[in-house]
Amino acid sequence: KDLRRDSKHQQLTVAVRIRPINEAELDEGATIIAHKLGDQIVILKDPTEDPDDILRANRSREKTFIFDMVFDQGATQEEVYVSTTKKLVEGVISGYNATVFAYGPTGAGKTYTMLGMDCEPGIYIQTLNDLFKAIESTSDNMDYTVSMSYLEIYNEVIRDLLNPSSGFLDLREDSRGNIQIPGITEFSTNNAREIMQLLTKGNKQRTQEPTAANKASSRSHAVLQVTVKQKSRVKNVIEEVRVGRLFMIDLAGSERASQTQNRGKRMKEGAHINRSLLALGNCITALSEKGGSRAHYVNFRDSKLTRLLKDSLGGNSRTVMIAHISPASTYFEESRTTLIYAYRAKNI
Ligand code: ADP
Ligand code: MG
Repeated sequence: KDLRRDSKHQQLTVAVRIRPINEAELDEGATIIAHKLGDQIVILKDPTEDPDDILRANRSREKTFIFDMVFDQGATQEEVYVSTTKKLVEGVISGYNATVFAYGPTGAGKTYTMLGMDCEPGIYIQTLNDLFKAIESTSDNMDYTVSMSYLEIYNEVIRDLLNPSSGFLDLREDSRGNIQIPGITEFSTNNAREIMQLLTKGNKQRTQEPTAANKASSRSHAVLQVTVKQKSRVKNVIEEVRVGRLFMIDLAGSERASQTQNRGKRMKEGAHINRSLLALGNCITALSEKGGSRAHYVNFRDSKLTRLLKDSLGGNSRTVMIAHISPASTYFEESRTTLIYAYRAKNI
C-alpha cells in the first residue's frame, strides 16, 4: 500500500508551535508579536518599524504564514502529539519509516515538545506508549521487537548519549544499503518511566555550551532512533518480515552564528549547524515536490544528519516538522527566519 496516495497519510506535515511568553522576556520589556489565527495561520508583527514613519505607513507591518497546523500557548503536550505524530505509529508498525523534527532557535521550546517533563511528557514518551499499546493489541501472528538508541550529532561527529565515554561513532552502510552505527547502545524496554529516565539522563549529556544568546544552548542534534522489527513464526521458523524505523529529532538551535556574536570554536559550530540544517531543508524541500520521488539532486551526503536519515525521508516515509518560536518581540529576527525555513520546506 502506498501511504502517500491516502490523503490521511500526508507525506510531509509542517506545524508551528508558539510557546508562552516567559517572565524573563516580560522583565526585558518584550511584547507579544506572534499570534495564531485559526488553526493554520501565524501572524508575526515587525516590532522594529517605526509607526510614525509616514512613508512606510501603508506597508504591512505584519507577515502572515500558513502551515498544516499551528499551536499556541493554549495547546497541551497531548494535543501537539495527537495532531502531529500519533498518526505515524501505525505506519512504523507496518514497516514504514518516519521522522519527526523539532526545529527552531535555542529557547523556543524544542526540548519541551520532544522530551518534556515527567509531569508533561513530550512526543518521545507519548509515541512510545502508543507504539507499545498498538503492538500489544495486534491480533496477527507476529513477533515485534522494539529497540531504541539515543545519539547526538555535534560538529558532524556522532556520540552515544547513553554511553558518552564510548567516543566517536561511525555511520556505515551495510551490504543492503541500510545505515548502521556500529557500537551504539541499543535498549529495549516498554517501561515508560525507565525510558523517560534514560532520555532525561542522556539529554544532560548533550553538548551544551554557552553562547551570548543563551546560557545553555544546544549545539547538537539529539536523535532518538526507534526500530520496530516484525517477525513471523511459521512452523517454528522465525523469519524477519519487516523493519520500521522512527527518528525523533531535537535539532540544534537554528540561530545564526552571526547573531550570537560567536567567534572561533562557536563560529565553527555555527557553520556546522547551519550547514546540516540547510542540507536538511534542501532534502525535505526536494522530497516534498510532487510525488516525493528521489530526485537526483537530493543530496543526502551533505551532512551526517541527512546521511543517517537517507531511508527515512521521502519515498514511502513520512515526515513531520514542528517549528518552534517564542512570541516575544526580542525574538523577532529568529522567529521570522524560522517561519520562513518551515514555510519553504512545505511550499516550493
Ligand atoms: P529549546 O530546546 O528550543 O532550546 P526549551 O524546550 O528548553 O527550548 O524551552 C525553553 C524554556 O521554555 C524551558 O524552560 C521550557 O520548559 C519552557 N517552555 C518551552 N515551551 C513551553 C510550552 N509550550 N509551555 C510551557 N513552557 C515551555
Ligand atoms: Mg533544547
